[in-house]
Amino acid sequence: MAVQIHTANPQPQARDWRRAIGNGLRGRCPHCGQGRLFKGFLKPVDSCEACGEALHHQRADDLPPYVVITIVGHVVVGGLLLAEKYADWSMGLHMAVWPALTVILSLLLMQPVKGGVIGLQWALRMHGFGGRPDTAERQPLPPAVQQP
Ligand SMILES: [Zn+2]
Repeated sequence: MAVQIHTANPQPQARDWRRAIGNGLRGRCPHCGQGRLFKGFLKPVDSCEACGEALHHQRADDLPPYVVITIVGHVVVGGLLLAEKYADWSMGLHMAVWPALTVILSLLLMQPVKGGVIGLQWALRMHGFGGRPDTAERQPLPPAVQQP
């Protein structure tokens, strides 16, 4: 006798996180890869113009800056150490190159990294991307208990 088990909540199909992150890095919708992900610098659209996927669930928050700091820190510190070891740069040249490179790389990387983070959140069905409301959504605080 065969036993069939029917679950009321079947597991959703897994999403390809590599493709979703790649689409996000290119500034495209993590679902379809066609629609724009941003309407301005670091401002994600509410929904995809091509497929209609709701993207307002994203909560990238502070992760993109942490990732950018890690990348830029490795590039700048590594470059500075290499320049110190193999080149004879003046202090003025160091002071001109490394702070400017830090600012430029940070500005160039911030939006693609944020797109990648949103793509990862979409692929992992975080923050409402899975069709269910986010249980960690900010709830209004209960009214303060009045002490007599
Ligand atoms: Zn889309």
